Amino acid sequence: MKPIVERFFRYVGIDTQSTWEAETVPASSNEFVLGQMLVDELKALGIENAWMDDKSYVFAKIPSNQDHPVPPVAFFAHLDTAPDESGANVNPRIIENWDGTDIVLNEDKQIILSKEEFPSLQNSIGKDLIVTDGNSLLGADDKAGVAEIMDAAEYLCTHPEFPHGDVLICFTPDEEIGNSTEYIPIENIPAKYGYTMDGGELGEINFETFNAATAIVTIHGAAIHPGEARGKMKNAILLANDFINHLPWRESPVNTDGYEGFYHVTDINGTVDRAQLTIALRDFTDEGYARRKQRVQEIADHLNQYYGENTFCVEVDDYYFNMGKEVEKYPEVKDYALKAMEMAEVTPVILPIRGGTDGSSISFMGIPCPNIFMGSANSHSIYEYCTIQSMEKASEIIRNIIWLFAR
Ligand SMILES: [Zn+2]
Repeated sequence: MKPIVERFFRYVGIDTQSTWEAETVPASSNEFVLGQMLVDELKALGIENAWMDDKSYVFAKIPSNQDHPVPPVAFFAHLDTAPDESGANVNPRIIENWDGTDIVLNEDKQIILSKEEFPSLQNSIGKDLIVTDGNSLLGADDKAGVAEIMDAAEYLCTHPEFPHGDVLICFTPDEEIGNSTEYIPIENIPAKYGYTMDGGELGEINFETFNAATAIVTIHGAAIHPGEARGKMKNAILLANDFINHLPWRESPVNTDGYEGFYHVTDINGTVDRAQLTIALRDFTDEGYARRKQRVQEIADHLNQYYGENTFCVEVDDYYFNMGKEVEKYPEVKDYALKAMEMAEVTPVILPIRGGTDGSSISFMGIPCPNIFMGSANSHSIYEYCTIQSMEKASEIIRNIIWLFAR
């Protein structure tokens, strides 16, 4: 087995599933186990300053071997896997030189991975696929990213003639529950540029994310015995429903793609007396983002005229911002990534992320940080897969970026 694949198998063997209910950082104590494994492996490569902090953030630096100043570059990947599917007992299987026929992931449960159901599989014909046994996710999101960074680090350590500046490595916990940059001690990563290895399939690269806010709409009803309710009751549950009906349904996740933003009701709870709605607001542009925030307030104002002042109260909190704004300021961070892909003969597929990434927060912390593919598809699902060739290309692209900055 190739070393990068051995690494990948080793890392997915540790169940690092994040859960929304977790009250600790990291969410899973196994993130310490994986983190420590990575520290030990980095040290075994000769990177003596590798270490892990008390929240399982892993840091390492490969010092420059150049005598001219080279901007330090950081590479990031996350340790955890998504709450959506089990990450326990991951049992990866390699299908060499896949011929495009249906893949029976699980005979007993009749779970089939087919290119009819997942058309992007088409691109993997003739490649060496890694798939699950249908009982868990694969964890290529983001352990493929971790393996690629580790593979590139190994290359640098075993090829002292390869020119590089300071190369910083950071593995983060709890990305899948939105916490990975919340506690990141950014001062431990003195980089000028960064890249997260947490994208999708071969060639994918992201320079933009959504602007994201969360709107909480609290609805104050008026409870009274239903027998005497005429003209008096304000059923907060029905009022919440009325609010939802005022949202433009065309601008919901199911009706949008590409650069279109949306309103997404993610939670509703309530009684007659009081109800609460949680709405995710997403937009790529500043104007659109502001307009969505305003729209939610306008709906509340409009309904308050009818139901009475302060029946609907809106609170909006920013969550993350489109990293494109920061990335744009440093064209070289984009150019070198694209050039590195060209050198590896990978055609870039530039896509906006219809979500966030660690890179959105990191970019606003002063390290412009695009997101590069790690080679997986169907993330967060038992149908998740990746190819060995994509992982090798991603590792090669990391090396090329390092080389380009040192040149
Ligand atoms: Zn990820």
